[in-house]
Amino acid sequence: MTLQTVAPAMGAVAAIPLGGRPVASPDRPAATKDIAMTNDERDQANSEQGGDLRVDVAIVGGGLAGGSLALALAGAGFRVALVDATDPSVMRDAAFDGRTTALAYATARMFRRLGLWDAIAPSAEPIRDILVTDGALESPSRRGGVVDSHLWFDGAALDGEPYLGWIVENQIIRNALFDAIEATDAITLLAPASASGTSFDAGAARISLKDGRRIFADLAVAADGKRSALAAAADIRSHAWGYGQKAIVCSVAHERSHDGVAQEYFLPGGPFAILPMTNSRCSLVWTERADAADAYIALPDDAFLEAIGARFGVYLGALSLASPRWSFPLGFHFSESFVARRLALVGDAARAIHPIAGQGFNLGLKDVAALVDVLTSARGLGRDIGDLSVLDEYDRWRRFDSAALAFGTDMLNRLFSNDVGPIRAARRLGLSAVNALGPLKRTFMRESGADLGRLPSLLQPERVSSAP
Ligand SMILES: Cc1cc2nc3c(=O)[nH]c(=O)nc-3n(C[C@H](O)[C@H](O)[C@H](O)COP(=O)(O)OP(=O)(O)OC[C@H]3O[C@@H](n4cnc5c(N)ncnc54)[C@H](O)[C@@H]3O)c2cc1C
Repeated sequence: MTLQTVAPAMGAVAAIPLGGRPVASPDRPAATKDIAMTNDERDQANSEQGGDLRVDVAIVGGGLAGGSLALALAGAGFRVALVDATDPSVMRDAAFDGRTTALAYATARMFRRLGLWDAIAPSAEPIRDILVTDGALESPSRRGGVVDSHLWFDGAALDGEPYLGWIVENQIIRNALFDAIEATDAITLLAPASASGTSFDAGAARISLKDGRRIFADLAVAADGKRSALAAAADIRSHAWGYGQKAIVCSVAHERSHDGVAQEYFLPGGPFAILPMTNSRCSLVWTERADAADAYIALPDDAFLEAIGARFGVYLGALSLASPRWSFPLGFHFSESFVARRLALVGDAARAIHPIAGQGFNLGLKDVAALVDVLTSARGLGRDIGDLSVLDEYDRWRRFDSAALAFGTDMLNRLFSNDVGPIRAARRLGLSAVNALGPLKRTFMRESGADLGRLPSLLQPERVSSAP
């Protein structure tokens, strides 16, 4: 990592302010205004102020997507600036984010290639099988009995992959990322630092920071999460809606082994996921209507644990709380474009989906890997990596590839988060029918393994050497 010791720029920064715009407002005023600046003018400004930074790619947002992109780009030979409003020491702390991520097996390949896996693997629990049931609270599956309407994904049926994926605490991934970023000279980490303005012109993308510093880059990347201010500044609209639901997240310790089985019960308020963790723990992602979730979060520990037990069942024996509780309001958005001149969107800035299928970050990592491929190939051909004709390839690849999954999860949540009799009967029939179809189940397993469609290089299967 390069330490950024620049003095704040003194000159007026005439950039477009970020923030404060609604995500999906179709009548949002056009916000992008180019500040024409030639390369010569820019260089002169740099040298006069001695405080501006010039890189190949400036990434705004050092979350899981932005951090992964910084490392992947640095590995491909690009000079990168990574900006985040939050101090990394805060993001590294366990109290920052209590979630776990179900890492698809293909995205784990990428972490291996980025040199992160050794730091993650000791805390990653393999997902061996997945059980999906449509339930009422008294469902026999939660009592260890047999249910007729269920879907069982058997990890052993996957060709060439030992597991369906891994469950990892987000804090473990963040720490592995920051350790690697801090050890990489080609990355300049600017955090805490807020991007407050941006402009995209023919010569460069310019990011202005709240403290007066400026970054000039061939390409800016919005990795600033939902309601991306960079996307709004480039006038990229988004289809967005809330679900009126919240996800309650916590982990529990239990008596018996989970055997690496991830379970998802579709209950009337929304899906209740039990995800196997290391050290006889499971992470819960419990979706409820927002008002009900608030009420559960406010319960004292024993009543909260009782409410969990009623959903969890007895198959893992006695339960105890193993973490604080968090809640996350749930919504959907999908950007109309993943690119603009000198701007690309990755991760939740491009689209954010319901956690029902545990795919949001996996999609974000696929964005990252695809963008690295597109930029590397453009640079190899001597092309400008911020040019729209280059970025359009990324847009076509990722926007179309992720639309089916994003809108599919939306439909799944609507179909399963209700208690309407005929719908329940139909979906139970559907679960049983899919369960009986081996080839279809294998396709679902490859989809949830992020292993279908056009795979970027970082996600492709490792080749086993046949050399003697
Ligand atoms: C309950 C829940 C469970 C989930 N489970 C899974 C799962 O099992 N598997 C999976 O694949 N996905 C899962 N997801 C989705 C996943 O967590 C997200 O897709 C992922 O965290 C998004 O990461 P990101 O880096 O794109 O965005 P974010 O995490 O939102 O990061 C954005 C960053 O940008 C910074 N930022 C914003 N604006 C500025 C600015 N102006 N200047 C500087 N910095 C700025 C912020 O500080 C932040 O650090 C889950 C989501 C939820 C809610």
